Parts: sequence; structure tokens; C-alpha cells
Amino acid sequence: MPDTIFHRILRREVPATFLHEDDLCFVIKDVHPQAPFHALVIPKATLESVGTATDADAALLGHLLVVARKVATAAGYGHAFRVVTNAGAGAGQSVPQLHLHLLAGRPLSWPPG
Ligand code: AMP
Repeated sequence: MPDTIFHRILRREVPATFLHEDDLCFVIKDVHPQAPFHALVIPKATLESVGTATDADAALLGHLLVVARKVATAAGYGHAFRVVTNAGAGAGQSVPQLHLHLLAGRPLSWPPG
């Protein structure tokens, strides 16, 4: 079983600021924020990335997006936020446990870098 920094945060072995937790996922503030509001939506189940997700993960992936919307709204950013996930090292993924980046609070240009 992979054991990432996010698994250790979930087990409260590493400190983090939790914004949300439910049966399926948790949300923490990113330690190196790329926007005034930058949170990570992370499933509790071990899942490397969207790149390894299967049909069996469809409901979980939908749940993560709904939670992202709720957290963004609760933080006052429901009108403008970005959800992005990196799948694979070549796409910038550094932690091999699926996570959605939730960014808001500044103009978000397109295309992203
Ligand atoms: P990625 O590069 O897409 O895999 O994103 C990993 C994210 O995890 C980065 O934005 C990091 O800043 C963030 N991160 C790494 N360690 C921690 C930590 N201990 N607490 C909160 N966020 C972290």
C-alpha cells in the first residue's frame, strides 16, 4: 500500500489545516498556496490519480467535485474558483494520491502553465 504525505495527514501524524472531512474524503489547506485560497480535496481511499481511476470510482470522483464546490462556496469563492488535478509526474503530480487542487481568490488565467 502506498503511504503518502496525505495518508499521514489523514492519520493525524502530520499537521494540516482541515476544512472538511466526511466518510469519503477530506479537505486541507495547501502548505504552498498558489492562490489566496488553495485547498486540496483528497479521497480517503488509496487511489493514485484520475489516470488510474476506473468505472468503480465514478461516484467517488463526483463526490470530490461536489465537496470542492461546497468548500469553495463556504469560503466565499462560489462565484469563481478552479478545480484542477494533475495525473502523472509529467503533468506535475508530486504526491501519488489523487487530489483536486481548489484555487480561488485571484484572477485565474487560461491556459494554465
Ligand atoms: P501535486 O504536485 O499536484 O501532486 O500537488 C501536491 C500538493 O501537495 C502541492 O501543491 C503541495 O504544496 C501540497 N502539499 C505537499 N505537502 C503538503 C502538506 N504537508 N500539507 C499540505 N499540502 C501539502
